[in-house]
Amino acid sequence: MSAREHEAKHLLQVYSQFPIEPTNAQGVYLHCNGRKVIDFYGGHAVAALGYGHPAMLETLDAQARSLFFQSNAVAMEVRAQAAETLARFAPPGLEHVFFVNSGSEANENALRIACKITGRSRVTAIEHGFHGRTAAAGMVTWGARKTWYGFPGGPFNVDFVPRNDVDAIAGKISSETAAVIVELVQGVAGAYDLDQLFVTNLAEVCAKKGALLIVDEVQTGIGRCGQPFASSIYAVNPDMITVAKSIAGGFPCGALIVNGAIAGEVGLGDLGSTFGGGPLACALVHTVIKVIQDDNLMDNVLELSRMLAEACPVGPVESVQGIGFLLGLRCRRNASEVVDELLARDILVGNSADSKVFRLLPPLILERQHMQQLIDSLAELPE
Ligand code: PLP
Repeated sequence: MSAREHEAKHLLQVYSQFPIEPTNAQGVYLHCNGRKVIDFYGGHAVAALGYGHPAMLETLDAQARSLFFQSNAVAMEVRAQAAETLARFAPPGLEHVFFVNSGSEANENALRIACKITGRSRVTAIEHGFHGRTAAAGMVTWGARKTWYGFPGGPFNVDFVPRNDVDAIAGKISSETAAVIVELVQGVAGAYDLDQLFVTNLAEVCAKKGALLIVDEVQTGIGRCGQPFASSIYAVNPDMITVAKSIAGGFPCGALIVNGAIAGEVGLGDLGSTFGGGPLACALVHTVIKVIQDDNLMDNVLELSRMLAEACPVGPVESVQGIGFLLGLRCRRNASEVVDELLARDILVGNSADSKVFRLLPPLILERQHMQQLIDSLAELPE
């Protein structure tokens, strides 16, 4: 019986899956029943350091042996160190961290804080954005109401701004708006990078109307765009940043990073999590960020994404969108055909919500030879 057939016996069938079954992974390669597949999908942008990275294994082993778990009911140096490392990596002014377990949970808490602090009941989001599947995160996810956002009502009212429509911004942010939430590069939408002018205007109108700016860096953060956070690339100063995915390289973890003004408004009992800030996740947060910095992985991201951009158009790919290692390759034909054809050549890439775009979210340790293999394979495919 295949793993897929075995899964179907007891797991809810809610995921469409790639036709591979990895049993082992090392570096950027997934080993699947005798096949060695290059992972340009990175487990949904999670495997920042690839698989089996020695620093991660040593960290996990040492932390598991010394202190496997304690909750936030006690202080721990490993948690303090992770928060300090993350705050130093974050854009200036964002120095206060709340650890959670996922991207949705980070956004849920950011939105909750925004409504509470401002006393306002509207949130503005951007069309085609994705922020998660919990109640508040689902409210601000484009299209979610039609699919899995199944609650009878929502925690606040939402206004969606068409992306890059500068003229629409002012009409969608008012003195009733608690927060604006935005992905600067819309990941699920196909690594669609928003225009600088649109983002600058969004931040300006937020400041004018007293709405808090939440930048969802769940996909863009932790070096994936060639800078620690995409907020720096766009030169915006968010009140809050949310992160998850790469932050602990595959160990479940998320975080909310806020500025001093917000931290000053959050008090005892306002937020909470049993597993958030657990020692295994925290030890890995410190290690992942340290390796990204020590091994100059953000330079690697910039160099290899430039290499790909220079090779395009190639084969069925007519253009590249996105930044760094959050890339959308726009095809002349249906992207899912190209995804299948690449997988037949042992290269795993991801689909997106845009039928013409497939996504690359590879580990930051990817090498030139891997990018060259992708380019060569694309060149062999029909236009
Ligand atoms: N925000 C963004 C930008 C995402 O891409 C995702 C997941 O894909 C989420 C939030 C939700 O994260 P999680 O699945 O960890 O809850």
